[in-house]
Amino acid sequence: MFNKILVGVDGSDHALKAVRLAGQLARACNADLVLVHAYPSLPKDIGEAKVQETVSERLRAANEVLERALQEVGYTPKIVETEALEGVAADVILRVAEARKVDLIVVGSRGLGALASLLLGSQSQDVIQRATCPVLVVR
Ligand code: ATP
Ligand code: MG
Repeated sequence: MFNKILVGVDGSDHALKAVRLAGQLARACNADLVLVHAYPSLPKDIGEAKVQETVSERLRAANEVLERALQEVGYTPKIVETEALEGVAADVILRVAEARKVDLIVVGSRGLGALASLLLGSQSQDVIQRATCPVLVVR
């Protein structure tokens, strides 16, 4: 039914739940899976001396988030890839979805945001609004 599934991860338990379901779907559909993490852009006023160190730190943190998420996928018969890109989460998710021609995007209903009462986070909301393929929101 689905050939390529993208799941967005931000280091939250909500996203890990989405990853587990995406893993199950990938198994059931014999689909490829791509785990995507967006990390924040560098502040404009960052001093030159700090750039290298800050970029390395962001990449290290991004890899940690993706490694943790990979553990939740479990066995899948097809390819599992990860991608860490700088930018706003919804933009990054939609850009990768387009570039890789995925046919399903999976996101958590919420993420790392502090508002526990929020029904739907801003990034999952934006993905739903702008995606051109089906979106599965996991709660
Ligand atoms: P808000 O960010 O609006 O304060 P929130 O953090 O609770 O609220 P979202 O950021 O919309 O909610 O997170 C919902 C889902 O979107 C996450 O479970 C995850 O699947 C995806 N997502 C959020 N941030 C990222 C990110 N940086 N990279 C990849 N996917 C993300
Ligand atoms: Mg968020």
